[in-house]
Amino acid sequence: MKRRALLKILAFGPFLTQVHAQTKATKGIKEMQDNWKALLAPGTEVPNAAEPLKLSKDEWKKRLAPASYDVLREEGTERAGTSPLDREKRAGVFACAGCGLPLFTSEMKFDSGTGWPSFFTFVPGMLQTKTDYKIIYPRTEYHCAKCGGHQGHVFDDGPAPTGKRYCNNGVALKFIPKDGKA
Ligand SMILES: [Zn+2]
Repeated sequence: MKRRALLKILAFGPFLTQVHAQTKATKGIKEMQDNWKALLAPGTEVPNAAEPLKLSKDEWKKRLAPASYDVLREEGTERAGTSPLDREKRAGVFACAGCGLPLFTSEMKFDSGTGWPSFFTFVPGMLQTKTDYKIIYPRTEYHCAKCGGHQGHVFDDGPAPTGKRYCNNGVALKFIPKDGKA
């Protein structure tokens, strides 16, 4: 009898875990968005998204590394698999590399297997979108609400419950670990 019960647990265990994970995620999205600051390193200054940051091309060039400039200001795309942030698993916040606006938290990240850091939701109010036709068919481009810096594209093949995949260029982000250690 005991052995039978154990077998039952073994058989249904993974299924139950999956259901549990999904329920947790459904409940979690709003909570994740509302409580994003819980993952912010103490003392981190948060820029005001409502005050746009506008700089000239030359000023941006001085401020950013060439690879970041290409993505943020020219809507370039980094080569897949090149960003260490794709493999970043620590708790913390992913901020815009252009202006420091927090865009995502580590809780919102998932491994999409694409070679780009991927997220299923974002910090509310921090992203804006537009449609681009760079590769003929329309894609939804998204950018930082404060400096307008291009971050990536959003697709509808992400995990439940949002179904969204924010496919982000790593060079457009900087990671702020919660414990403050770089
Ligand atoms: Zn920005």
